[in-house]
Amino acid sequence: MTNRSTVERTGTPPSFHWHTLPAERVAEALQSPTSGLTAAEAARRLAQYGPNRLAPPKRRGPLLRLLLQFHNILLYVMMAAALITALLGHWIDTGVLMSAVVINAIIGFIQEGKAQSALDAIRAMLSQHATVIRDGQRQEIEAANLVPGDVVVLASGDRVPADLRLVSVKELRIEEAALTGESLPVEKSDAAVSADAPLGDRYGMAYSGTVVVYGQATGIVVTTGAATELGRINQMLSDIRNLTTPLLRKVDRFGRVLALAIVAMSAVTFMLGVWWRGHPAAEMFMMVVALAASAIPEGLPAIMTVTLALGVQRMARRNAIVRRLPAVEALGSVTVICSDKTGTLTRNEMTVQRVVCAGHVFDVGGVGYAPVGDLSIDGRIIDVEHYPALAMAIRTGVLCNDARLCEEDDLWRVEGDPTEGALLVLGAKGGFTQHAGHAAWPRLDAIPFESQHRFMATYHRDSDDEPWIFVKGAPEAILDMCASQLAHDGELPLDVDYWRRMATDTAAQGLRMLALACKRAGPLEARLGFDDTRSGYMLLALVGIIDPPREEAVRAVGECHHAGIRVKMITGDHAETARAIGAQLAIGVGKPAITGAEVAMMDDAALRRVALEVDVFARASPEHKLRLVQALQDDGQVVAMTGDGVNDAPALKRADVGVAMGRKGTEAAKEAADMVLADDNFATIAAAVREGRAVYDNLKKFILFMLPTNGGEALVVIAAILFELALPLTPAQVLWINMVTSSTLGLALAFEPAEHGIMSRRPRPPGEALLSGFFVWRVLMVSVLMMTGALGLFLWELNDGTSLETARTMAVNAVVAAEMFYLINSRFILATVVSLDGLTGNRYVLLAIAACVPLQIAYTHLPAMQAIFGSTDLTPVEWGKVLAAGMLVFSVAELEKFVIRRTRLAGRLNG
Ligand code: ATP
Repeated sequence: MTNRSTVERTGTPPSFHWHTLPAERVAEALQSPTSGLTAAEAARRLAQYGPNRLAPPKRRGPLLRLLLQFHNILLYVMMAAALITALLGHWIDTGVLMSAVVINAIIGFIQEGKAQSALDAIRAMLSQHATVIRDGQRQEIEAANLVPGDVVVLASGDRVPADLRLVSVKELRIEEAALTGESLPVEKSDAAVSADAPLGDRYGMAYSGTVVVYGQATGIVVTTGAATELGRINQMLSDIRNLTTPLLRKVDRFGRVLALAIVAMSAVTFMLGVWWRGHPAAEMFMMVVALAASAIPEGLPAIMTVTLALGVQRMARRNAIVRRLPAVEALGSVTVICSDKTGTLTRNEMTVQRVVCAGHVFDVGGVGYAPVGDLSIDGRIIDVEHYPALAMAIRTGVLCNDARLCEEDDLWRVEGDPTEGALLVLGAKGGFTQHAGHAAWPRLDAIPFESQHRFMATYHRDSDDEPWIFVKGAPEAILDMCASQLAHDGELPLDVDYWRRMATDTAAQGLRMLALACKRAGPLEARLGFDDTRSGYMLLALVGIIDPPREEAVRAVGECHHAGIRVKMITGDHAETARAIGAQLAIGVGKPAITGAEVAMMDDAALRRVALEVDVFARASPEHKLRLVQALQDDGQVVAMTGDGVNDAPALKRADVGVAMGRKGTEAAKEAADMVLADDNFATIAAAVREGRAVYDNLKKFILFMLPTNGGEALVVIAAILFELALPLTPAQVLWINMVTSSTLGLALAFEPAEHGIMSRRPRPPGEALLSGFFVWRVLMVSVLMMTGALGLFLWELNDGTSLETARTMAVNAVVAAEMFYLINSRFILATVVSLDGLTGNRYVLLAIAACVPLQIAYTHLPAMQAIFGSTDLTPVEWGKVLAAGMLVFSVAELEKFVIRRTRLAGRLNG
């Protein structure tokens, strides 16, 4: 049921002008108290109005999807051939050709379904969340569960989850390009506007699908789902695009050119056969039709798609959710990864270890979020009460704070920003709880933390009704606001040198730093503005917080270095902290760190010179990230860049692989990104690079399998015609081989896991042609090898007096056996497969072979098949010879790999 129909049912006209009503009237009309709906009421409304979701775009029906499988130039050629054979009355050939076409279409249909459902599962993982107030509590829920009347809290970076009438607004700016096409953000207010105001001028409304680029607000949901403005224009946002990438398009083009070349080659073979060798035209014609049908790689498009989709699915299992498929390809050739520090390279489990006040340095005991630990000076436990600056600093940390510390089953957990959580734990260790703090010092207003200004401020009233402002933030930002400091014996002028020295000293130990300050405010005013945070503060303390590196990130950085990928850390933190943490992760060891301010001073040429050399960028802002990506790309690098804030979007879009954080990332960042990390973990990027390389490898492996097997069949026939030999395969037999092997065997390679040494290679050069010199060599070599095996066996048998039928049966089986053996060879491009893992490591390869064996036995021994294809029974000895021919291909292919590995030709041939 759509919201609109319900609105109609409840008597509200669909064109109801919410924007013309004052906010209180809207709250009344939708029975929406400021404490939000109750859970029961929300559930009732959800049942009544339906989920807040847009209907997905209409999918093609299964029948149409099946029919579309035939819409493929390669299959057109096969169908044309079938038509011609039918006109000539060669019904068996027509039957086999049409079976091959139908089998291919069905396999394509099933594969496409599999690929689609893989992407659907991933789409579900990207569901949007919204912060609401329900039962008087702030909570995060799935945006699909929003109902009219819900009170929604918006913050910068959020995507507006439904149409809202804004109730309270703090410097809210929203980018409404999704609806109005206007890319400049619109300044919002809570005021009503006239009924005829166009969408872009309804300042009191926030519309579903638009993005908050600055500020905060709360609003009441007025419409959800299809009834929203976005629903009316019926546009789906952030959909995963089509199943194609530049490489797939290239391969597709290659397939077409190949098809044309094959048709041309068949025509030449026909002419040579008829005019030069004098074969009857009708027989020759059937032969070249079969030839063309077997040489055309009709399974190519379907298998490429499924390889890609399987790769995407594997990445999703490892928490890397791909939003744009070309990223899979780019991942395989990434040369530089630029990563945030906090939460990505580090654990984001913050613990205060040190508090520096004027004249005293306090150590804080305990680990994690459990509020257990003592404060001490030089090992001597102290009482906070005796240190007024420390007491005031701890109070500031607890009050200037939006996080919540909670205990569940003896486990302490922080809801909100972990940096703030650490201050709550410090508060609890020092005897200040959040609850008591808020009761004694109620908060009147706040300026939340934004990485642009690097501080947070809150405005309070104490028990004597005196107004106070508390600030906390990066030491540089806070020091600028302070004129004095609180020392043991009262307020003193600020000793800037002391604080700078202590800050550098604390940061050099890898601690993250916050400065805390406060001031008595002027007479009570309703709002806290940036003007109130400029000067006149009293510095209380510097807090040093430890946030250790993730162990798996340390390993992943090592793996990246091994794989020829540079890792750079780009952080908002202090340069010394960043360098110290970098050193623990082996990033930028022994090299200087550069700050955002220094980046800002450099011109593009200077930045390009240092961008590759320097690995740690501190106090960096989103615009520095963008310039860095550009500088690295100008230098020819393929860059993956992480980000979480709304302002990171340009850098994420610009990077070859933009990576957003799934947990702490904003919707704006996720939308701009190519890939989302469900666990915010650097190690996941390394895993995705590995999978990206594996996907590319598998595409290569499939082509390396398919081209020579098709080529081998074709060569057998061409050679026989050219050298005027008895034809070793009849047209129907060629078509049979094609039908049994072409799509089925190669498909198994799509399931190939990443090779062991895949992260010991250099990154693939981005513009690398798929068909390198090595490729052409391998295709030619194996084609000739297959021909030698099959044709050689056939001629030998004829020479030995075996009947033509039996010799042909052996030739057919030899080609199929050679393909099966070569499928195993193809598992690894250069590494040997002669090992337990090499021979049995991919069960799909074994399954594909197991499926082909009974078909060949049936072909050889079933009387019905013998009647159709002219095959004969084979003796065990003859079967042995067939297997030997297959083994020949296998052994020579392994020998070739061995020689290439030994002579280190690989690099040169590949390059
Ligand atoms: P990264 O980009 O690696 O995630 P970061 O998270 O350390 O870096 P920011 O969140 O931009 O970077 O923080 C920059 C600085 O701002 C911190 O070093 C700290 O001093 C200060 N800061 C961080 N969080 C808060 C907060 N909640 N309130 C006040 N100041 C903060």
